[in-house]
Amino acid sequence: MMTEPSSATLSRAQLATLAATGEERTAAAGEVLFRVGDASYPLIAVIEGEVSVSDVNGREVARYGPLAFLGEMDLLSGQTVFATAVASRQLRYVAVESAALRELMSEDGPLSDLLLSTFIARREALQQVPGVGVEVIGTRQGTDTRRILDFARRLGIAFTWRDPDSDDEAARLLSRLAPDEVPLIRVPGGRELRGPTNGELSRALGIGLELEPQEDVDLLIIGAGPAGLGAAVYAASEGLDTLVVERTGLGGQASVSRRIENYLGFPAGISGTELSSRAVAQARKFNARTATPYRALALEPGEDRHVVRLDDDRAVRARAVLIATGADYRRLDVPDLERYEGL
Ligand SMILES: Cc1cc2nc3c(=O)[nH]c(=O)nc-3n(C[C@H](O)[C@H](O)[C@H](O)COP(=O)(O)OP(=O)(O)OC[C@H]3O[C@@H](n4cnc5c(N)ncnc54)[C@H](O)[C@@H]3O)c2cc1C
Repeated sequence: MMTEPSSATLSRAQLATLAATGEERTAAAGEVLFRVGDASYPLIAVIEGEVSVSDVNGREVARYGPLAFLGEMDLLSGQTVFATAVASRQLRYVAVESAALRELMSEDGPLSDLLLSTFIARREALQQVPGVGVEVIGTRQGTDTRRILDFARRLGIAFTWRDPDSDDEAARLLSRLAPDEVPLIRVPGGRELRGPTNGELSRALGIGLELEPQEDVDLLIIGAGPAGLGAAVYAASEGLDTLVVERTGLGGQASVSRRIENYLGFPAGISGTELSSRAVAQARKFNARTATPYRALALEPGEDRHVVRLDDDRAVRARAVLIATGADYRRLDVPDLERYEGL
């Protein structure tokens, strides 16, 4: 059994706050509360009894008793569920649906701190458990396989990579596919994707807002690093209809920093994931929308509205456009460099 990374528990007052927002429910021993592949699940806070959480292969990942709570980052991102929870004893619990939870977290600082830091720790621990999450089947040399693996890492999606060079079953699965159908992706819950774009993988996992072919906003922000998200908080809090588009995952370079020591207001430092999650929550609190993964391709300036063309045949008309695309690292001029990157 995986060690629970954070044995965080709620205070009685916090449990009461959750109960006031959510709904008290009961479950008999053996009853399934949510399972791998479900589109969503509520935050579950245990009042009495016990819940066992297991991965897709039935291996127990964690157990939760009174005052403990279930959930990780997928509760906030909307991602498809990667684990199954079963009442291991007669259970009385509070269930809070994710929209209500997000609202509560934007109002209750200490509760938000506890939930967010626990969700992040659990997500990081889940990423280390073999067999949890998305299965990516493709070769080390495959450009599209590396693209998908980089994307999953950047978004913190738990995945297992199966390389046909060392895995006979993976080689057999790929032998039936055309080159453009690789990598083969198996999403928890049974769905398969063949050679998907990053956007198709996101949608299959239920992550990220999908834009209409044409959007009309007051302010379009390109890039969701600290600068873009900071601008979104200010603009949306002043009442502007604000949309942020990001080509990969929210948070920019800062989201991959293990610990940021020099950010104003965090004397003990803060992890990049936590800083990004807090920034996204703050932007959404003011109704800024964040859409991923969309790359801005072209800007056509106009009198009244500017038009920004995105990949995936999307366009945004905006009264103002703020470009916060940060920095890209220079790359070594070495033949076949991609082969040595990231893996
Ligand atoms: C590992 C690491 C550790 C770091 N640690 C620290 C630290 O401790 N302290 C510190 O002060 N700084 C640190 N930094 C630097 C800090 O993260 C950056 O200065 C900061 O993130 C810059 O913010 P930004 O919003 O301007 O740009 P970025 O964070 O670069 O964000 C820009 C975003 O725009 C997106 N984008 C680019 N082009 C497009 C496009 N065409 N369409 C859509 N989206 C696009 C990118 O994908 C990216 O997410 C660290 C950086 C790294 C990589």
